[in-house]
Amino acid sequence: STPSAVISAIGVGARRGILVKSGLYLEEAEKIDTVLFDKTGTLSSGKMRVKSIKAFGNFDEVLITALAAAAECGSEHPVADAIVRYAKENSIDAESCAKTNSTPGLGVEAQSCSGRVLVGNARFLAESGIFIPDYAKIEAESLSNEGMTPVFIAQNEDIAGIFGIEDSIREESAAVLADLKKIGINNISMVSGDKCEVAKSVGRYCGINQENVFSGAVPGEKKSIVKNLQSAGRKVCFVGDGVNDAPALAQANVGISIGKRENSVAIETSHVVLLKDDLSLLLSFILLGKRTVKTIK
Ligand code: ADP
Ligand code: MG
Repeated sequence: STPSAVISAIGVGARRGILVKSGLYLEEAEKIDTVLFDKTGTLSSGKMRVKSIKAFGNFDEVLITALAAAAECGSEHPVADAIVRYAKENSIDAESCAKTNSTPGLGVEAQSCSGRVLVGNARFLAESGIFIPDYAKIEAESLSNEGMTPVFIAQNEDIAGIFGIEDSIREESAAVLADLKKIGINNISMVSGDKCEVAKSVGRYCGINQENVFSGAVPGEKKSIVKNLQSAGRKVCFVGDGVNDAPALAQANVGISIGKRENSVAIETSHVVLLKDDLSLLLSFILLGKRTVKTIK
C-alpha cells in the first residue's frame, strides 16, 4: 500500500501547483542525476514575437504574412502564435485556406486557393523538396546570429520569404539550473528543434556546457537522446512543454511538462505537470521527492 508520507506529499505538491500523477515519481525524483530540458517554451518563455520579415522575388511582406497566418491558424506552436498575432497587429487578413497539417519540430503545410504553402525551418523545406537558394540561407544565418529563429515560408516550389522570430529566456531559468547543480545534479543538457546557433546561445546564457546542447532535433530524436543517457546508466528527468516533447517525456524516468492549457499532449504524456508557468517548481518537485523518500526510509 502507498505510504501515508507519499499521499501527503502528493497533496503538498498539488497545493503548490505541482501535479504528481503517481507516488512512484516522487521516489524516482530522488534518484534523478540528469536533467534534459527542451528549449522553446521551457527554458525560454515561448512568448514569441515576429521581429523581422523579409520577402523574396515577387512576394511582398503583406502577402507572405497573409499566407503564413492562414497556414498557422490551426497550430499550437509558439511560432504560429507569433505569426498570427503579427498579422492581427498589422491588420493583415489571413488568406483563407482549406486544409492545414502540422509536423511537430518542423513546421506546417497548408493548401490554399493559391496553392501549397509551407511554413517552417530549413529541414522542413528540404524534406518537402524545396530548394533553398544561397541568398535565403545567408538571410537565415544573419537572423540566427542576432539570436532570432529563422522561419521560412514557401509557396508551391518557391521560397517566398523569412520571418525572424524572437523569444526571451525565462527570467528564472539560469537560477533554477544553478540551484540544480547546488543539490548535486550536475548533468544538465538541452535539446531543441531549433537551429544550432539559437540553441547554443540560450544554453550559454543558462549555464549549460556547449557539448550538452543538442539542436535540430525532431520528436523521435529527443526520445533517442533520453534513451542514450539511460543506456549510460543515468536516471533522466526530461522537462518540456510541447507535442514535440511527448515521446521524450514518456521515455524519461520522470517526464515533467510545464503546463499551459494549449499543450494538452505534453500534459497527458508527462508524469508530473507544473501547473504554473514557473520553472522553479521543478526544483520544488525534486526536493519534495527527496524529503518524501527520507521520511519513508
Ligand atoms: P523546441 O524543441 O525548442 O521546443 P520545436 O521542436 O517546437 O522547438 O520547434 C523547432 C523548430 O521547428 C522551430 O524553431 C521552428 O523553426 C519549426 N517549427 C515547429 N513548428 C512550427 C510551426 N507551427 N510553424 C513554423 N515553424 C515551426
Ligand atoms: Mg518546446
